[in-house]
Amino acid sequence: MLLHHAATRDSIRQLFDAVKAISVQGYDEERRVVYWNVGSELLYGYTEAEALGRKLEELIIPECMCNVVVTSHKRWVDEGVEIPASEIILRNKNGQDVSVFSSHVLFEDENNKKEMYCIDIDLAEVRQAQAQVIFKENMLKAVFEATPDLFFLMQEDGTIIDYYVGDKKNLYVLPKDILGKKYVRFFCLKKVVKNFKSHFVKIIEQGGVSSFEYELSMPHGLTQFEARIIYLQSDKKIVVIVRDITEQHKAAEVIRKHAYFDNLTSLPNRFLSLDRLWQMLKKAKRNADNVAVFFLDLDDFKKVNDSLGHEVGDKLLVEAANRLKLVVRESDTVGRLGGDEFIVLSQALTNGHDAIDIAENLLGIFREPFKIDGRELSLTVSIGIAIYPENGGSASDLLRNADTAMYQAKTLGRNAYSFFTRAMNDITLRRLEIEGYLHYALERDEFEVYYQPKVNIVNGNIIGAEALLRWHNPVLGNVTPDEFIPIAEHTGLIVPIGEYVVQQALDFLGDWQSAHQKNYTIAVNLSPRQFRDKKLIDFIKKSLNNANIKPESLEFEVTEGVLMIGNSYIDGALAELHKLGVKLSMDDFGTGYSSLSYLRKYSFDVLKIDRSFVSGITLKKSDCNLVKATIAMAHSLGLLVVAEGVEMREQLTLLEELGCDLAQGYYFSKPIPAKELIDFQYAANRP
Ligand code: C2E
Ligand code: CA
Ligand code: CA
Repeated sequence: MLLHHAATRDSIRQLFDAVKAISVQGYDEERRVVYWNVGSELLYGYTEAEALGRKLEELIIPECMCNVVVTSHKRWVDEGVEIPASEIILRNKNGQDVSVFSSHVLFEDENNKKEMYCIDIDLAEVRQAQAQVIFKENMLKAVFEATPDLFFLMQEDGTIIDYYVGDKKNLYVLPKDILGKKYVRFFCLKKVVKNFKSHFVKIIEQGGVSSFEYELSMPHGLTQFEARIIYLQSDKKIVVIVRDITEQHKAAEVIRKHAYFDNLTSLPNRFLSLDRLWQMLKKAKRNADNVAVFFLDLDDFKKVNDSLGHEVGDKLLVEAANRLKLVVRESDTVGRLGGDEFIVLSQALTNGHDAIDIAENLLGIFREPFKIDGRELSLTVSIGIAIYPENGGSASDLLRNADTAMYQAKTLGRNAYSFFTRAMNDITLRRLEIEGYLHYALERDEFEVYYQPKVNIVNGNIIGAEALLRWHNPVLGNVTPDEFIPIAEHTGLIVPIGEYVVQQALDFLGDWQSAHQKNYTIAVNLSPRQFRDKKLIDFIKKSLNNANIKPESLEFEVTEGVLMIGNSYIDGALAELHKLGVKLSMDDFGTGYSSLSYLRKYSFDVLKIDRSFVSGITLKKSDCNLVKATIAMAHSLGLLVVAEGVEMREQLTLLEELGCDLAQGYYFSKPIPAKELIDFQYAANRP
């Protein structure tokens, strides 16, 4: 038993007066409070004034403990039986439990008076901290169990000192083979161990998290892993978290394939092909080498799709892709740009002949018919060739120029190849320039519709006119329709431009008809692309209504090209136009396939003999015979016949003899602005 001097007691009082974290209370032999520090006030809620003089058991001892406390206090003071320090639950002023670690000291002053001092430490925070530790442990356990990852705790030298794993099966080895070992089986490949070591060195130096991926051959197959490595600086330990990312890899591979490869043919897609070209160009620049770009477009592939169905079309594309793959060198690339367009990239050609050989080979592989679903199909291809560096320095330039050359090959009659040339380059640049200005031509009001009268050959009366578009651009000057209409078609701009022509023509027709009180007709040219516009029919209906024009006064001129596309939407649109009551005219007859079957199949009202035949009728017997036969045939089908491009009196006379109904051409008038046509008179010229 230890009795302390009053002097010690006094210095303790001094020491603890202002201490907030520890409660110190002094009691006399009767257990009345003689000392109460700030810590006690804070812990138990009684102020010093409230506490002084009151008994221990009146203040902080719960009723159930009163007896024990009173007895032990007495026994210590009277008999010297020390009160053991312990955790106990006391009570504050509000009657709430206060958990403390309580220890006691006994003092005796010079008068043999004894005072007991209680030193209570609040355990609330300790309890909370303990709860947190338990929570964290449980949480970690739950996390370990729930994640498929393997956790290894290692020394800096790679010795494994602990591991956590949700499912022991994922370890693939027995724990005894892991603990205490350096870089176990998982990392047994030399390369992988080396990788681990270098990452350890890095992380010990720099801290943070480091990660890398590796591949191991596991009992169930090739497996991809990701290792994340964390350095615990304070413990000088390393945590390695290993995850099986095989599935993730597979998913990424699928995505990669979608992004870079064509689904149908598995060939590199446009994106990857251009990337490869870019790589080849980089290399060629370094080595002063050539690269040849072959742009391939299957001839008349649309026809296959439309007549035999997309399934057959798809099979044909796959077959074509396979043949292409067979013919190129290992270092070459075959890609699918989309639709029926393919690309072949060839590097390090020794001379221009190499490119010719490759092109011949490419044409050659299409010579054998394709066997699809027991059917033999013949397919040809048109090829455009652009060579780096002569024909362009960038991937996009080369591709564009090869595309231009391909178009040239098509005009040469398909099943051919064509090299890109300077002249083509000029055409391409001109096209691009026109395209740029064409975009704003409508909104800048640069168009005007001209009209060329059509004349009844027999009586010389004007019966109507053809609307022909004119474009004047401040920079380019006058651009002919032959130049800008194909570009407008290509870009789709023909749809709004065509609507403009219809509207202008109908407005003019209203004025013209009322000025002369005659039932003139107006003919408007329709491009293939306009048939794809779903709103075409509605637009025409509405425009006729707005302009208050009878449908039969409007005529649409379409070329055979439209019909040859053979799409069902064109058949549908033609039928709808016919139902509307507008007239249909076959334009440029004689230049295309001039198939009679088209004339029978669709309800045409008018046939226009192409200018090229009219110009020859007075010179060539063959042209004359052809025109004669055409007129007879058209009449037998109940069609009116118009001769285009009549420039001379003799032509007109001959056409009249042949029984042609109408004529149009410079002989009567060039296309003229609306204002001029209103005042135009022709009959006066007749003899
Ligand atoms: P097209 O439909 O065959 O139009 C007849 C073309 O022949 C017009 O050329 C006309 O000016 C020209 N021409 C008329 N009579 C004679 C003649 O006696 N001698 C000669 N040498 N030529 C004559 P233009 O106006 O340059 O139009 C060319 C082509 O552009 C048109 O050929 C047509 O296919 C297209 N086009 C013109 N305007 C439009 C339009 O508004 N929409 C669409 N889709 N195409 C249009
Ligand atoms: Ca025409
Ligand atoms: Ca024509």
